[in-house]
Amino acid sequence: MGWKDDIATRIRGEVRWGVPLAPKTSVRVGGAAELFVRPADLDDLLGLLRTARELEVPVHVLGGGANTIVGDGGLPGVTLKLPEERERATDLGNRMLLELSAGAPSARLTQLAREHGLVGVEWAAGIPGTVGGLTAMNAGTWAGEMKDRLTEALLVGADGAAWRPARDLAFAYRHAELGGRIVSRVRVELEKGDPEALQRSASAQEKDLARRRATQPLHLPNSGSVFRNPPGDHAGRLIEACGLKGTAEGGAQVSPAHANFIVNRGGASARDVTTLMARAQHAVQERFRILLAPEVRLVGLFTPPTEALGLKV
Ligand SMILES: Cc1cc2nc3c(=O)[nH]c(=O)nc-3n(C[C@H](O)[C@H](O)[C@H](O)COP(=O)(O)OP(=O)(O)OC[C@H]3O[C@@H](n4cnc5c(N)ncnc54)[C@H](O)[C@@H]3O)c2cc1C
Repeated sequence: MGWKDDIATRIRGEVRWGVPLAPKTSVRVGGAAELFVRPADLDDLLGLLRTARELEVPVHVLGGGANTIVGDGGLPGVTLKLPEERERATDLGNRMLLELSAGAPSARLTQLAREHGLVGVEWAAGIPGTVGGLTAMNAGTWAGEMKDRLTEALLVGADGAAWRPARDLAFAYRHAELGGRIVSRVRVELEKGDPEALQRSASAQEKDLARRRATQPLHLPNSGSVFRNPPGDHAGRLIEACGLKGTAEGGAQVSPAHANFIVNRGGASARDVTTLMARAQHAVQERFRILLAPEVRLVGLFTPPTEALGLKV
């Protein structure tokens, strides 16, 4: 029996071979998952991680794929997708503690806040993906980030599951230190808002969504900001200054609307996207002596390998 059958017999949840991952990412490029697993619950997840460790099979957790580019050669090993599980809200007086599963869409955070009359997650409106992705990426905007609200996360590894306080995750700009563990659930603490605060929160979210519609190419598949902003500057401004807005490669294009977005105009491959990334990185380094670091996570087998394109990741 091969490792895939071994996992399939031990997992209660969904197990499938050769699942195309392009439709599971927002930019819609790349190959297939060698084995795609959606565990039924936390016990099943623990079983999967233990089995994978025993069999020495790599596990990659995919959230909503809104910050992920899968290589055209696919993703070897297990691609793990977490289920959306029950939510909990605990009243703390003038605040509330919300508990969400990592597999829940990130939009559930703002929805739940609205349902309970809470404020403090306005920045999350319009950030696609899952709650797990928000945490792993410490996603956010200038107005706030996940680290401002998360109090604890349930981290899971082959050695078990434990709630960890936010400080253990060493949050930084678009980064959390998870030590190879999977985020299974999170707790966030939010303030109850009076009618005026709730109105301010709703209009801040509307304004942010309008800003995104006006400045981001949301009508085409993309993976958000491709590069991290270097200190004190914007990757989009630097790429635009190099004259690369609108440059195309195959089906991919540096968005004419926002130079830090690469859009899939139809039929793009991961190779097209990484070729444009390499071109932008090279041009900015030549002109400004600034090395742009990718914000998107490149996973799986890239053909040609990203190093061969000159892309530094
Ligand atoms: C149109 C658009 C706009 C965007 N705007 C913003 C923005 O304003 N601010 C911002 O910060 N980002 C933004 N992004 C990027 C993206 O939405 C965020 O990074 C988001 O948090 C990614 O979530 P995800 O679930 O899709 O993560 P994925 O892309 O699936 O995964 C990203 C990383 O997180 C890891 N991960 C995912 N889930 C877990 C888990 N449960 N446990 C451990 N690791 C996990 C993955 O392994 C991977 O390394 C934007 C993207 C798009 C497409």
